[in-house]
Amino acid sequence: MDNWIGEFKKDPRHSGIFLDFDGTISDIAPKPGIAQLHPRAAHILPSLATRYPLCVLSGRRAANVAEIVGLPHIHYIGVHGMEWLEDEPKIDPEILPFLPRLDRARQKLQSELDELPGVTVEDKMLTLGLHYREAPEQEDKALDLAQKLADTLGLKVRRGRKVVELRAPVDVDKGTALGRLSHAWRLKRALYAGDDLTDVDAFRGLRRLIREGGFEGTAIAVLSDETPIELEAVADITVLGVDGLLDILAQL
Ligand SMILES: [Mg+2]
Repeated sequence: MDNWIGEFKKDPRHSGIFLDFDGTISDIAPKPGIAQLHPRAAHILPSLATRYPLCVLSGRRAANVAEIVGLPHIHYIGVHGMEWLEDEPKIDPEILPFLPRLDRARQKLQSELDELPGVTVEDKMLTLGLHYREAPEQEDKALDLAQKLADTLGLKVRRGRKVVELRAPVDVDKGTALGRLSHAWRLKRALYAGDDLTDVDAFRGLRRLIREGGFEGTAIAVLSDETPIELEAVADITVLGVDGLLDILAQL
């Protein structure tokens, strides 16, 4: 493990750091609205961002995660790779044709949600998330409803930590976003750290770059008692919680 850290430090300009937000550099909050950047991350990231290309790649809206992290010299990508924050938020063009379908899903959800007390909808415009952290007994019903809407409207379902999301049926995810930025930044190596199922996409993105050649990738799974086994299975390194990851980042 120390080997890749040495390579990063020798050549920071070509070494990219890609980080998920919730559960990775922020402790999981009972409601998405109150999550905060971990205080140690707030201390470590500014100095990393002056030396390394650094991107926070979140499931949140890009402007939202940029506001919560609140640090300069960081590239922010939101909605699992679908929204890029440049001068202003930019939606990936592949998603645009599917916005009307998401609209219909939004309308249908409003009428169906009465059946699922405690479940809340997080509307990220490009995805609709059904959160059941506050009502875990509703998990099966929430999953069924999401699948039913996806089947009827031609959308795709993705699961996360206590959430199920409806998305456009296109291959735009954290992995494709990581690939695009790694090429744009001419990276020779990168690390990606995340804690959830959508982070498996980013790990796959790293693998694709490695297969293309001339690239080294380090996939870091941030473990908690909710870690999906799929994530742990494909990681190069596992760390215990946000603090475990920050211990590694502090060495860079
Ligand atoms: Mg996360």
